[in-house]
Amino acid sequence: MHLPSFRIGLGHDTHRLEPGGPLMLGGLAIDHDRRAVGHSDADVLLHAITDAILGAAALGDIGELFPDTDPANKGRDSAEMLATAAARLASAGWTIANLDCVIFAQRPKILPHRERMRERVAAILGLAVDQVGLKAKTGEAVGPIGEQLAIAAECVALITPAGGDSPPA
Ligand SMILES: [Zn+2]
Repeated sequence: MHLPSFRIGLGHDTHRLEPGGPLMLGGLAIDHDRRAVGHSDADVLLHAITDAILGAAALGDIGELFPDTDPANKGRDSAEMLATAAARLASAGWTIANLDCVIFAQRPKILPHRERMRERVAAILGLAVDQVGLKAKTGEAVGPIGEQLAIAAECVALITPAGGDSPPA
C-alpha cells in the first residue's frame, strides 16, 4: 500500500479556571487573575500541541505518556512533556512540518503574548517561528469559555519523514 509521506494530527485540551494567577499558557507564566487547574501545570496550549504531534504519528496521547495517577506528573512542566513527546516523534522517524493552533479564552487578550508564545513553542520543538501558527478566540461571553470557567486549545500538526520522502518503516 502506498502511503503519503506526511501525516496530520489533531490535539484538543480543556482546563478549568480558578481565581489566582499566574496563567500558564504556551510555556509562559502570564500575569492574570485566574489560573488553569490540572494535575500538571495545566498549560492547555502545550497539551494540545503534545496530543497533535503524538496523534499524527499514532503514538498514543499525553495521558498515556504522563498518567495523572503517577505522582511524578504532579505539577509537571508541560514544556518538558512536549519535549518528551517530540523526542518520541523523532525516534519514530518523523519531523514536524508545521503547527496551527487556536486558544479559546475570554481573557486575557492573547495578542500581546502571541509572538512570545510562538517563539517559546518553536524553541521547545527546535522549529523556526514561522512553523508555529497561533490564533485566539474568545467565548463571545457565553458558555464555560465565555464565563471564564474554562480555557481550551486546539492544534493541528503536519509531520513528514525525517529522512526524506519515504514514510518511516
Ligand atoms: Zn491538559
